[in-house]
Amino acid sequence: MNMRLPAVKPVDQRVLRASNPSFFDRLGPGVLDERRGPFSGPSESMTEFEPEPDVPSGSPRSKHRHHGTGRLLMRDVDPDALKVVRKLLTGGHEAYLVGGCVRDLYLRRKPKDFDVATSATPESIRKSFRNSRIIGRRFKLAHVFFGSKIIETSTFRTAPTSRAGDDDRLITHDNEWGNIVDDAFRRDFTINGLFFDVPTNTIVDFVDGLHDLDRGVIRTIGDPVVRFQEDPVRMIRAIKFAARLDFTIEDATWRALLETTSDIAKCSRARVLEELYKILRGGAARRSVELMLETGLLDAITPQYMALHSGRPARARLDPWLWELLDALDEFTVHTEQVAGNGVLLAVLFAPLIDPSWAEGSRSGFDRRIEQLMTDFCVSLGVARRDRELARQILMAHHHMVDPLEGRRRRRRPTMVQRQYFHDALVFFGVTARARASGGSELQYWLKLASAQRQRRDTEPTNSRKKRRRRGRSRKRGDKGNQGPKPSTPAAHG
Ligand code: ATP
Ligand code: MG
Repeated sequence: MNMRLPAVKPVDQRVLRASNPSFFDRLGPGVLDERRGPFSGPSESMTEFEPEPDVPSGSPRSKHRHHGTGRLLMRDVDPDALKVVRKLLTGGHEAYLVGGCVRDLYLRRKPKDFDVATSATPESIRKSFRNSRIIGRRFKLAHVFFGSKIIETSTFRTAPTSRAGDDDRLITHDNEWGNIVDDAFRRDFTINGLFFDVPTNTIVDFVDGLHDLDRGVIRTIGDPVVRFQEDPVRMIRAIKFAARLDFTIEDATWRALLETTSDIAKCSRARVLEELYKILRGGAARRSVELMLETGLLDAITPQYMALHSGRPARARLDPWLWELLDALDEFTVHTEQVAGNGVLLAVLFAPLIDPSWAEGSRSGFDRRIEQLMTDFCVSLGVARRDRELARQILMAHHHMVDPLEGRRRRRRPTMVQRQYFHDALVFFGVTARARASGGSELQYWLKLASAQRQRRDTEPTNSRKKRRRRGRSRKRGDKGNQGPKPSTPAAHG
């Protein structure tokens, strides 16, 4: 029988959350700072928004651009993204901020990243910015680097035409250049089809996106069946945005989604997996998974994972412990503004499927059972070896972290804190501690240990550190550790 991880106390999560809103302060900024995303700093500047109340919203598809109902404060925009736009404009090209960042700024949310759309070709973008490189084949674009930050800069393009009656509408290449209007209409949802014109400080809307943003609606641009068949990953994205923004999916889009879920099998595994990770680390994982269940998308994406839950009563579908963990993961994401690594996300998915009795046998046996548990899912979706390895390490470590004072495990404490996977194990531990309603003292215990270890490391002379590392290496042959989170695969549609 599959059971949740050990030491679960049945406490009403809602009561606990209300009474302890700052549980994740312990893992908040300053504690685990190193994994913060490039745009994840506190949004001090996003306090104001100046709508122009009397400008009518919405426009039919027409030759004329519609300047939308809103201005965005320039100080809310990432300064490096502005640099890219301005330099392209100076070079005689058209250039706009586009997509998710415009949507989020309009909604007064903090954008995850800033994308630029331009009339310049990838080659000429490359020439304009020494700090850039061209990426992608299916969707060729330029990355402009500012330290670890990337401004995705893509050339206006037209949607590849799929004719009605085509058996297979799947887009395999999307590199036909176009103008700004073409570029608006090739995008997935109306709320993602907006451009921000920096010099005039206006939103340019060809697709009625502002109207849908105001009403809280997810709607494909164009015929939803065609748009989902062209690129089935858009179905996962529809769910992601509906969950994250708390929007409703418009009727025709919803019906099309139900109709085309099985098409997801035609997409590249890498893209599906990346969207799945994005959903899990986006702050609305629980709602997203609910919607994926409701639409049948989760079954279509990973029958292997669903099969692991098949012992559940028909109505439950997924283990109740998974929902608790997803809730806690969302709280972690929203509260700390940190990005959980892929290993942590996989650990959340598989933790509810671990039978505590596995831990009673040998360590290697426990290890093997976890490995076996994840195999089908990981192979079918092409999970990177190191993410899978990390998830296994996190789950094993978790077992020792739950009850650190118990004899055998006590001896592992100092070495565990030194492991490369410890950071992720600690995040995962924080998530389960929250879900288990442990009150936080367990987490505090490990945080103290980690900080003592950090202090020791910082005060220790470099020479003896090197020596100890060498000794440690020779002793721990075979302990592969992990190399940190996998860099995300480039977006297919910048
Ligand atoms: P997030 O906040 O998750 O980054 P986003 O809307 O910015 O959301 P990205 O994946 O960063 O999503 O893509 C940037 C933009 O590219 C989108 O807003 C959308 O206009 C366009 N886009 C992305 N994926 C697709 C797709 N599969 N089909 C059509 N357009 C897409
Ligand atoms: Mg984005």
